[in-house]
Amino acid sequence: MDTDLGRIVKATGGFYYVKAESGEITECRARGIFRLDGRRPCVGDIAAIQIDLPGKGTVKEIGERINFIPRPPLANLDCMVAVISTAEPEPNLFVTDKYLAVLAHKSIHAIIAVTKPDLGDVRPVTDIYRRAGYAVFTINGTTGEGVDALKDALKGKLCAFSGNSGVGKSSVMNAIMPSLSLATGGISKKLGRGRHTTRHVELYKLPGGALIADTPGFSALDTDAIIAGIEKEDLQCYFPEFGSYTGKCRFRDCAHIREPDCAIRSALESGALVKTRYDSYVKLYEQASRSRY
Ligand code: ZN
Repeated sequence: MDTDLGRIVKATGGFYYVKAESGEITECRARGIFRLDGRRPCVGDIAAIQIDLPGKGTVKEIGERINFIPRPPLANLDCMVAVISTAEPEPNLFVTDKYLAVLAHKSIHAIIAVTKPDLGDVRPVTDIYRRAGYAVFTINGTTGEGVDALKDALKGKLCAFSGNSGVGKSSVMNAIMPSLSLATGGISKKLGRGRHTTRHVELYKLPGGALIADTPGFSALDTDAIIAGIEKEDLQCYFPEFGSYTGKCRFRDCAHIREPDCAIRSALESGALVKTRYDSYVKLYEQASRSRY
């Protein structure tokens, strides 16, 4: 019997649509064993399938996942584009930092898109995150400024977009996927549908090769629960810019909050680290540690 390997690009009503390297899509059911061991294939999974009839098959096995998002289920995200606006609404730096820490904890690479550059100076925000080591793109959804650079960064990757309401997430997505927008009468409408259901998840392919998932990522409730579950000692690993200093403090178990001869706090005082990022770390550290007891 023929077997093939591909990525699950759509899941709906108990069917999994597996796209092979050749571009061919096979409609599959999952093998009974998945029900027995409690695992369930999901969109993003790399699947080994058995071809039963032309165009029809069975998912036999799924590959190890790099990461997983539960609602809706999605595996192996290469990156999450965190959309924040320059103004209207003002960016909430703590919420952004918390979200970035959650992505790092989940091994999801974060890219930052700053929208509405016509409404104010983008630099206060872009500087903070560039200095923290993130790739930051300024996007004007109306004029298309920055869209090509973001598209280039997403090439060949499986990505999703997240952002609070009003930040212009839909206009960024529309700008990078105009073909789909024209075909469906609005990608945001199409992506909005089924957002809260676990039954239907689908990946959309950009001409440049990026796969876009219709998931909002994590809700505010999800992020708080994830932070509460993080070991407070691990939190420093989710602030990439701390990496050059951790391990250089006087105490090996330094929390970088009150301890003497702390390399992180020295870097903060010398201006090498950004204050808002450090403040978010301290606040998250308190949230993470409170949850342990
Ligand atoms: Zn320290």
